[in-house]
Amino acid sequence: MAVPKGLVAVLAGDGIGPEVMAATREVCTAVEKAYGFQLEWKEGLVGGAAIDARAKALPDETVDLCRSAQAVLFGSVGGPKWESLPPNEQPERAALLPLRKIFGLYANLRPAVLYPELVGCSPLRPDRVAGGFDVLVVRELTGGLYFGKPKETVKTAQGERAVDSMVYETHEIERVTQVAFRAAAGRKKRVTLVDKANVLETSLLWRKVVKGIAAQHPAITLDFIYVDNAAMQLVREPGRFDVLLCENLFGDIISDEAAAVAGSLGMLPSASLGQGSFGLYEPAGGSAPDIAGKGIANPLAQILSVALMLEISFSSPEAARAIREAVAGVIRDGWRTADIVAPGEKSVGTRDIAKEIARRIASGRGKG
Ligand code: NAD
Repeated sequence: MAVPKGLVAVLAGDGIGPEVMAATREVCTAVEKAYGFQLEWKEGLVGGAAIDARAKALPDETVDLCRSAQAVLFGSVGGPKWESLPPNEQPERAALLPLRKIFGLYANLRPAVLYPELVGCSPLRPDRVAGGFDVLVVRELTGGLYFGKPKETVKTAQGERAVDSMVYETHEIERVTQVAFRAAAGRKKRVTLVDKANVLETSLLWRKVVKGIAAQHPAITLDFIYVDNAAMQLVREPGRFDVLLCENLFGDIISDEAAAVAGSLGMLPSASLGQGSFGLYEPAGGSAPDIAGKGIANPLAQILSVALMLEISFSSPEAARAIREAVAGVIRDGWRTADIVAPGEKSVGTRDIAKEIARRIASGRGKG
């Protein structure tokens, strides 16, 4: 098998971003040594840190760095210091959204995993989530209501009229559906399309296109669920789902709901993908200014984002599996950061848990 080579753009950002990224890099080093990778990691400025240093949340040199990379490992951006800037100049809007646009990132993958040992972290009743769950939300990211035209507010005789348009074309549905089916092939082989086909034209097109693609993947089971029922079933029995495929707005809401029922934001990675193997990988949470600088943030979402990156952008499923198994192992053995600690239990710091994961990977205990 070819040894993964290439450049990773590392954009740590603000708040807990740099401390979590530094801890994550220790895990990366262990994986590189264990698997003989030759990856180059180059840091770039982004978010509030870039505003302070370069007067821009996404400086041109950072975009150039990302263009020359196979993948972007993103931390988190934003914080109180930059909240008084005009909305379009604030770190999240001025860095993350342009990155998605520049690189045509049309598919967002958000795995929501509840480990059996962390059932107590879920807001759901333990009997609803007994044994934990593993749901992957695949969200279309560049179409639908957020971008469809017309999108406007006009004056009328009675006041004003506002319009958003949910628009989808076949090719937009096809490409994200292929991502969902590929992901399902490495999981429980089931895709559920979340839609509102009883009232929406766009949902009828989604069903037609998705059924066509399902015919190319006979090993994957396809079923359908209305979005209102999906929202309800996610809080009744999240473990019944494998891959949930959603258009943009439905995916925005459903992926946050799946994250909420999984417990801590500090555990959830994500990937945003475009054409080819390029991707942007980041934790689902933000810059957590309330705990920044204390060394207590949970680095698992960032570490698990590296697993997604190695699997998708560097075709290295074994290394990804080693990371996931090492993470599951530390959880099983009682390592807990403050966000997932039970009352009376002892918590460890960001660096401690990352070092332990790195140690397990280096000693082969992360391997399958
Ligand atoms: P947040 O996700 O930063 O924090 C919400 C809560 O979750 C906080 O209590 C925080 O301590 C906790 N949390 C988040 N990640 C954690 C981790 N890894 N370990 C332990 N606890 C964790 O959301 P917020 O407070 O609404 O936003 C704070 C800032 O982050 C804002 O400036 C916002 O714009 C920005 N933000 C950035 C991104 C991004 O970079 N992708 C995403 C969301 C929010």
